[in-house]
Amino acid sequence: MLSNSMDDYPLTLTRIVERAERFHADVEVVSRRPSGAVERTTLGECAARARNLATALEALGVRPGDPVATLLWNQREHLELYFAVPAMGSVIHTLNPRLFPYELAFIVDDASDGVIIIDESLLQVFESFRAGLDFRHVIVVPQDGPAPAGTLDYEALIADATPMTWPELDERDAAAMCYTSGTTGRPKGVVYSHRALVLHSLVAALPDQLAVSAGDTVLPVVPMFHANAWGLPYAAALAGARLVLPGPRLDPESVLNLCAHERVTMTAGVPTVWMGMLAALDAEPDRWDLSELNRLIVGGAAVPRSMFEGFDRHGLTVVQAWGMTETAPLGAVCRLPVRLYEGERDEQYGFRVRQGVATPFFDIRARDDNGELIAWDDAAMGELEVRGPWVAGSYHGGRGTENFTVDGWFRTGDVVRIDAHGCIRICDRSKDLVKSGGEWISSVDLENQLMAHPAVAQAAVIAVPDERWGERPLAVVSLCDGADASADELREHLAQEFARWQLPDRFEFVQAIPCTATGKFKKSQLRTQFTTA
Ligand code: ADP
Repeated sequence: MLSNSMDDYPLTLTRIVERAERFHADVEVVSRRPSGAVERTTLGECAARARNLATALEALGVRPGDPVATLLWNQREHLELYFAVPAMGSVIHTLNPRLFPYELAFIVDDASDGVIIIDESLLQVFESFRAGLDFRHVIVVPQDGPAPAGTLDYEALIADATPMTWPELDERDAAAMCYTSGTTGRPKGVVYSHRALVLHSLVAALPDQLAVSAGDTVLPVVPMFHANAWGLPYAAALAGARLVLPGPRLDPESVLNLCAHERVTMTAGVPTVWMGMLAALDAEPDRWDLSELNRLIVGGAAVPRSMFEGFDRHGLTVVQAWGMTETAPLGAVCRLPVRLYEGERDEQYGFRVRQGVATPFFDIRARDDNGELIAWDDAAMGELEVRGPWVAGSYHGGRGTENFTVDGWFRTGDVVRIDAHGCIRICDRSKDLVKSGGEWISSVDLENQLMAHPAVAQAAVIAVPDERWGERPLAVVSLCDGADASADELREHLAQEFARWQLPDRFEFVQAIPCTATGKFKKSQLRTQFTTA
């Protein structure tokens, strides 16, 4: 019986940061400011500044294991924090500025964030939720001139600090944290370990996955506050790929200009963004030189066939990927298999609209309503369950235990068919959420608010497919006997609690909402009824 003689070398993000510093120091990082100005730096400079930043954060009392919140765009400083915070042993907690103030307040409180770094352009968002929260330090990345009074200046902190020698960490230490929306409407925290993110970066960089290499210029349109920007910043630092960070302006023209001027080779984001780009390209096919752009990774929501066809017309390849905040996020990638290279167009598109084949080290299975494993015959349907080194084993604070099976698999809430080759196709969702433009809208929250209206007896909100946004909420309402309320009145009622973009576009009035045996709204029936209507 032999025993393993290998070194028990820890898989930490520190090694990725050091690699960027030592081996890819000259690789350019392009960062577009909120003003539109383009700033050029290098991986080496970002890694060096990260060392000073870490010392400064430590001096402010940030200890190993402590969360450090960020309210930033895809910008150079965010990359510096992606490097500094995990490498010093603390936990980078990226906040989504598009959330509601009450959600942000809940998340910050739940994570016990004591220090936050904010881009000056997001100060208003910060002010909208900071009341009642206990921040020890507020650090601002200034636009022009110094940070406002009462805050610390990001640049001054770096300028005044000395470089940190990175501590040795355990690969199971926490490195980063993101919140995901829950079916009950309350966000839940997922804490990623170093090991999870290192393995995720290695696998993401593989040729048949996202294929990130030194020859690439990567433009993550997916925000760095969304599931680690799908792992692209770390994968790029590992491979030595050039990074283009677009800042807040993600309108089609700005993104296309960046792709053309910076000769971007790969980009990634949710379908809604690409829908707009496609329309712009169709309108002016010769305006942008995108000859270097060889793949668009699209995920976070289903990619319609029209999008594959549309980009194919411009010689641009869309690759669909599937993932979740709970899976760091990459779980499956849909690459055309060799057997279909010479296939019919229909057959190829029929494959490309699927969510893909699980990445290496990512186990999948699906179980039907009776808890039985479904056959991989592309006919049986079941809820997708996953496990792997970058899949959550629990939520922060022990919440959401019902999302994990007794044998330790994570329940995705996606209802799928799986073909004989292991390729997933999402058919439905068991979780009550609407995904519009890559952002979640809680159907439960909308329903509760609707049912708080005196004229409403029952309300069910479902997601209906939408060309532009992927999905939009539709409200099915039954009114109390003798009561009356118009769609406009109900929309106004919701507007007191929800942002405009979260309000249902359509209201359907019914006598009674169909229910299951357990008294839940039969949303599958409503979807069939109203999706085609
Ligand atoms: P992210 O922040 O990466 O969007 P979330 O955890 O918010 O991750 O959302 C994950 C969910 O998004 C999945 O469970 C699934 O319902 C949906 N989703 C992600 N990718 C796809 C895809 N390619 N096709 C269809 N739905 C997808």
